[in-house]
Amino acid sequence: MRVDGQIRGGGDKGSEPMELAPGLYLVATPIGNLGDLAPRAVATLAGCDRILAEDTRHTGRLLAHLGIDRPLARLDDHTEAQAAVRLAAEIAAGGRLALVSDAGTPLINDPGFLLVRACRAAGVAVCGVPGPSAPLFALTLSGLPADRFTFTGFVPRKGEARRGWLDELTRATHTWLCLESPHRLVATLEAVAAVVDDRRVAVARELTKLHEEVRVARAAELASHYRTHPPKGEICLVIEGGDRAAVPGVDAPLLALARALIAPTPLPPRAAAKLVAAATGAAANDLYRVLVR
Ligand code: SAM
Repeated sequence: MRVDGQIRGGGDKGSEPMELAPGLYLVATPIGNLGDLAPRAVATLAGCDRILAEDTRHTGRLLAHLGIDRPLARLDDHTEAQAAVRLAAEIAAGGRLALVSDAGTPLINDPGFLLVRACRAAGVAVCGVPGPSAPLFALTLSGLPADRFTFTGFVPRKGEARRGWLDELTRATHTWLCLESPHRLVATLEAVAAVVDDRRVAVARELTKLHEEVRVARAAELASHYRTHPPKGEICLVIEGGDRAAVPGVDAPLLALARALIAPTPLPPRAAAKLVAAATGAAANDLYRVLVR
């Protein structure tokens, strides 16, 4: 096994500690099911000098379960900006540091970006062990297009940020991926239904856990379901993008009219009257009479 040329020996021994080269190791951890922890993740955590964690008590429980005894240090949104350059210097001096989130992949709506940037700037190795990430898993389970998507993190709760989020969603032509808390889910689904009720939405809840659920429907249908079945646990939302052929300021009937204009064969008068009527709101019969006069 080879990790970007960083691991010297021991790499093929599954979860035994590995001899690690100096570097920052981003290690993904399970989002619910401990069986999803990769053997190489265990070996990396066991083989590093120190583990940086969002919540040291939470990660401490995982390490105790794995029988790994490595020093832990806190790295959260409040401490990262100050610590990043110092930690990168420690790695440059030969340190082998692992970074984990409470769950899932570090940096994905979790701390780590400033540290990775500082390590890159300092020219030290950044590598790691990929693994679970709740939003990406939700996207893959949803049945919604996964070729282009935007991850927006947590849905903004209120005010201008929420209005801007909804406005952008209305115009989006690709899948949207976001995080939501169970007690705000219904309000968010209602807000989504108010602006884009023609699109499908997936609520992915408690992924990889006992009560895993992925429910796909229109936002209004989901809102009414969860109003009567209040959700619990952790949730990702996946929202279908709008019609990719849509043009801002041009509605569907006008677009159909534009397509008819470039069609190789002329439309019969009845069909042409219908199209213009749909695009303008005029009476189709009046238009038809003028066209055939
Ligand atoms: N870095 C993490 C990852 O890669 O999965 C995401 C961190 S984000 C701060 C945590 C949020 O992800 C939760 O509040 C919830 O919205 C979502 N989440 C985490 N675990 C989940 C699960 N098992 N099922 C559904 N959503 C989950």
